[in-house]
Amino acid sequence: MTNERKVRVRFAPSPTGALHIGGVRTALYNYLFARQHGGDMIFRIEDTDSQRFVPGTEEYIMEALEWLGIKFDEGVGYGGEYGPYRQSERKEIYRKYVDQLLANGKGYIAFDTPEELDAKRQEIANFQYDASTRMSMRNSLTMSADEVNAAIEAGEKYVVRFKIEPGEDVVVNDIIRGEVVINSSILDDKVLYKSADNLPTYHLANIVDDHLMEVSHVIRGEEWLPSAPLHVLLYRAFGWEDSMPRFAHLPLLLKPDGKGKLSKRDGDRLGFPVFPLEWHDPKSGEVSSGYREAGYLPEAVVNFLALLGWNPGNDQEIMSMDELIALFDLHRCSKSGAKFDYEKGKWFNHQYLQTRSDREVAEMFAPIVASHGHTCDIERLTRIVSLVKSRVNFVNELWEQTAFFFEAPEEYEEKSVRKRWDEGMGGRMNELIEIIEHLPSMESKAAEEIVLGWITDKGYHMGNVMNAYRLAVVGYCKGPHMFDISEIMGREETIARLRKAIERLG
Ligand code: GLU
Repeated sequence: MTNERKVRVRFAPSPTGALHIGGVRTALYNYLFARQHGGDMIFRIEDTDSQRFVPGTEEYIMEALEWLGIKFDEGVGYGGEYGPYRQSERKEIYRKYVDQLLANGKGYIAFDTPEELDAKRQEIANFQYDASTRMSMRNSLTMSADEVNAAIEAGEKYVVRFKIEPGEDVVVNDIIRGEVVINSSILDDKVLYKSADNLPTYHLANIVDDHLMEVSHVIRGEEWLPSAPLHVLLYRAFGWEDSMPRFAHLPLLLKPDGKGKLSKRDGDRLGFPVFPLEWHDPKSGEVSSGYREAGYLPEAVVNFLALLGWNPGNDQEIMSMDELIALFDLHRCSKSGAKFDYEKGKWFNHQYLQTRSDREVAEMFAPIVASHGHTCDIERLTRIVSLVKSRVNFVNELWEQTAFFFEAPEEYEEKSVRKRWDEGMGGRMNELIEIIEHLPSMESKAAEEIVLGWITDKGYHMGNVMNAYRLAVVGYCKGPHMFDISEIMGREETIARLRKAIERLG
């Protein structure tokens, strides 16, 4: 039956703050899988824990995924026939399933207060609310029906717990990990519902919604693997095992150095973002950097993330979204964690930047030029960009490479002056000015031929003269081809800079 089932996947974040880059990868893999199978991708908000709610999260996630081109078919903000898609709006729906578990004896009511639970923890080492302890607690298994009703009527707060039978091997069939077997004895009687806010906990809401929304595959981070046996048992308790989704638990993203999970602190420590967009924490006011603001192109981020934990089975690295959709395969996801390689991320951005036209890059660069107080006609900026695009990983690095076009040098790189600007250089540069004045055009190739001809004829030192020329125009001795620079800079400005250098350097 799983074979003919329509593919329906969901991305189901809890709105507890900015979406981590690992969460973005989860959304991406769900999207690739859904598209490849002509399925549906659902956006569900799991907001049953009001304590941890952080305003702005939902909008942030939508904006981030939109930026990356990860689209939903249905869900919060998209609508659909299985709504509402925000769990806090589905209260009435869950209550019925809580009652079902109570009625068939798979769940029970527990009144233990936090203080009583604490006392138990003091009394019993490694206390766990389970088959070994539940009969010594205050719950509907140890109290009479009358006592239970009286307590509820008196307004006592209670929870509903899942009654887990011990000693059973629970098998989770995971597409990536194969059969994962856990003995039910190590599981505790999880809280599924709290009367205090009339809301289910994550576990119940997650299972009920996956069932009602006809989710076919649950693709999520490895951190949810420990919950999976409980989820399998819940499906069974409801009698839904035939329509249980297939699981795929994705590998963890690991620190670039050392062991352990990639954290926000690693990003701060090593200087890279761990969030897709800049995030302003509404509580602490802290601002965390984002890939978008750091100058990443969305397609570079997508490609980079796609390969963190998956590969196409050969060494192809550059893949568009369409190619990823065609090639993606959960069976090729790794079980072990994927080391986060930030340098590789930069490399991807470099590659994708080169695929954008000079004009497009110039348009992205124009605001940066403006922020430095300069205006530049877009045709000219496009030509400038064409000279240095291949040297940068990010648009914002273009400024450093091209600032000399907008600001004539005020100082000249000292070590180059010492090395290149010898006694007679002022005179030679005056000759060069004359040559340039008489050039039929500043066009790079033509100017190069004439200027190099002059240097050769005079028997001057090629390296010294050309570097002195560059020093005068640029201020330092590296950068694109000198005659390409002077073509764009124009005759007048080139000569003005030469004159100024002669004046300053003698
Ligand atoms: N709400 C969970 C989260 O924040 C969803 C886990 C799952 O996909 O089952 O990631």
